[in-house]
Amino acid sequence: MTETPTTALRFVLLGSGAVRNNPRRAGPSQILQLGARTLLFDCGRSACMRLAQAGVQAESVDRLFLTHLHFDHVTDVPYFVFVGWNNGRQSPLRLYGPEGTEHFASRIIRPPFQQDIASRVGHGKSESGLDPEVIEVKEASLFLQEEGYSVSAAFTDHGGMPSLAYRVDTGGRRIVITGDGTPGEDFIDYSRDADLMVCECSGTAEFLAQQPWGAWHLTPEGLGELASAAGVKRLVIKHLVMEDITGDRTAAHRMAETIRDHFGGEVMVGEDGLEVDLS
Ligand SMILES: [Zn+2]
Ligand SMILES: [Zn+2]
Repeated sequence: MTETPTTALRFVLLGSGAVRNNPRRAGPSQILQLGARTLLFDCGRSACMRLAQAGVQAESVDRLFLTHLHFDHVTDVPYFVFVGWNNGRQSPLRLYGPEGTEHFASRIIRPPFQQDIASRVGHGKSESGLDPEVIEVKEASLFLQEEGYSVSAAFTDHGGMPSLAYRVDTGGRRIVITGDGTPGEDFIDYSRDADLMVCECSGTAEFLAQQPWGAWHLTPEGLGELASAAGVKRLVIKHLVMEDITGDRTAAHRMAETIRDHFGGEVMVGEDGLEVDLS
């Protein structure tokens, strides 16, 4: 992949945390900016606040990709939809996600906000821009091709929940963004030569072994081996759960060291607002 990107390409990690209400780490969310277009991946707690901090208007984002429907990854979706509508969204929102996304979207927008919608429409607001077009991604395949980029999906094993990772190919650059879960063997080829992989890293192997949900996640050793086998160039770790539970703020850096034992590329510990310029 030697082709040079024709447009600016910037990744921003909006939220580096997960379930717990950590004020320094918002819930899972990140953007990839390809020129004027912004792709949003997951929309967890405080994602929209971080989006504003990154200088992006919610209504300008018309592609949202959900990895899975655990609440930490999706809890800001109603706010994202409503503030975009409120602000006069011009470009219709397309919402991609795993099986169940249609059911989710049909229940979190109109039913709980009937009074709000009736009130605004009653004052003359158009309903245009409110309802996203929902597309469920049910196969591990390339599912979206638009000018300048394409997006492919892969499945991860996440406690039996439909769960996706996404890969964006654009202008000779490859970016892989995981949700949660352990990928299969095919993930090495899927991630081959990625310029950037953004991957969950919820805790050390010892920590995960003690959690009832620990088997739903990759260990740092597994992640390092995966990134190495795939020839990934740069790795960002996110979904940094362990410090929320143990209080140990050095945990993420220790996990990064473990990854470096297995992987020779660059490893960055996710922080909210972390930017990677891929131009
Ligand atoms: Zn999660
Ligand atoms: Zn999850």
